[in-house]
Amino acid sequence: MAISLGSIADDYTGASDLANTLTKNGLRTVQTVGIPDPSLALPDVDAVVVSLKIRSVPASEAVTAATEAERWLRHRGAGHVLYKICSTFDSTDAGNIGPVTEALRDAAGGGSVLVTPAFPETGRTVYLGHLFVGGQPLNESPLKDHPLNPMHDANLVRVLARQTRGAIGLIDLAAIAAGPAAARARLDALRTTGATMAVADAIFEKDLETLGEIALETPISTGASGLGLGLARALVRSGRVSGGATAEDIIRPVDGFSAIIAGSCSKATLRQLEVAERSMPVLRLDPERLISGPDEIAAAISWAGDRISAGPVIVAASASPETVSRLQSQYGRETSGHAIETAMSIIAAELVERGVRRLVVAGGETSGAAVDRLAIPAFLIGPEIAPGVPVLRTVGNAQGDMLLALKSGNFGGDDFFAAALAMMH
Ligand code: ADP
Repeated sequence: MAISLGSIADDYTGASDLANTLTKNGLRTVQTVGIPDPSLALPDVDAVVVSLKIRSVPASEAVTAATEAERWLRHRGAGHVLYKICSTFDSTDAGNIGPVTEALRDAAGGGSVLVTPAFPETGRTVYLGHLFVGGQPLNESPLKDHPLNPMHDANLVRVLARQTRGAIGLIDLAAIAAGPAAARARLDALRTTGATMAVADAIFEKDLETLGEIALETPISTGASGLGLGLARALVRSGRVSGGATAEDIIRPVDGFSAIIAGSCSKATLRQLEVAERSMPVLRLDPERLISGPDEIAAAISWAGDRISAGPVIVAASASPETVSRLQSQYGRETSGHAIETAMSIIAAELVERGVRRLVVAGGETSGAAVDRLAIPAFLIGPEIAPGVPVLRTVGNAQGDMLLALKSGNFGGDDFFAAALAMMH
């Protein structure tokens, strides 16, 4: 069956957040890891989110990847494609939000593309084209010091004008609050005057519902999970959603063992490990040995391999802030982080080889490394274990169906690991 909504996400974490938002708002959603193989068999879904890593690469690279993803989504029937960006509009004068939006607009035959990073649930609002983060304009928020994309201008009309060749318009809150007809009339007027993009204000979810409705009538939009929410609700209201897999179908049992891999050193994860230690075996790895050679990895695989048939096990690199900073000052932050992520992903992949089919990974980067190593092409998004952390069911996985939970940083309550395993049984 053809999909209704396609999305191209500029990074993996943003893709997961959007996929979860679409699911919670009534769309059956698959998230892919990279641009999928043309032969990937999709279950019956309403939305597909293609996860890319193009937020901070050179603009020409981002444009090439995004247009290829767009072709894949159109081929699967997507009538509308959302380019998913960060709700803090992370970009520089060289791109990538403007150039990618422009390229997707050209591919879709022109028009005015609606653009809004508003996501009121997380404090991102847009008024008269100015983006606010919590109570502060973007250029006074911590984003002004972002290491890759420092944001020095809150006026998104100006920001986009610097990134693109075309004229940029504004759909202000007064037009949006007057309802879809008034907002649509404003978008039409901008298109007539030749504006290539229309920055749209939004302060409340109902503004995003209005924007979702008018965006759906166009081929392309650019926004954060907030616009995803608006598009999902508009699709549900229009009755154009499938009767595909239910939440129950997505979490139906898989055969195999359970394991938890922890590479997050966040306070929440350290506490969750302490709590889990009371009810399941936990192996605490030596981070220094993990970096210096393969022995610690082999020992972890053998330790876990001996135990998984008896019940879930946890393998953790996680350590206290003092241990982490000692290691970082010795080996460098990047080198130590990357080496440990790689080690944890090897352990995860070896445990899957040994029959693990329910896998929980703690840590955003650690999860990304594990999913890449496991070469999982896509997931169906299931119900949430904790806010922001859904159960995932693999799609097109070489080893057969797996259930996963990928938890970044501070997500989840103290009993997160037990709660995740309980939902995956
Ligand atoms: P979070 O979601 O909590 O930020 P991530 O997985 O994204 O978790 O990041 C944690 C980083 O810390 C990873 O790069 C991981 O490899 C690294 N790491 C894990 N354990 C240790 C440790 N004991 N010492 C130093 N770095 C570690």
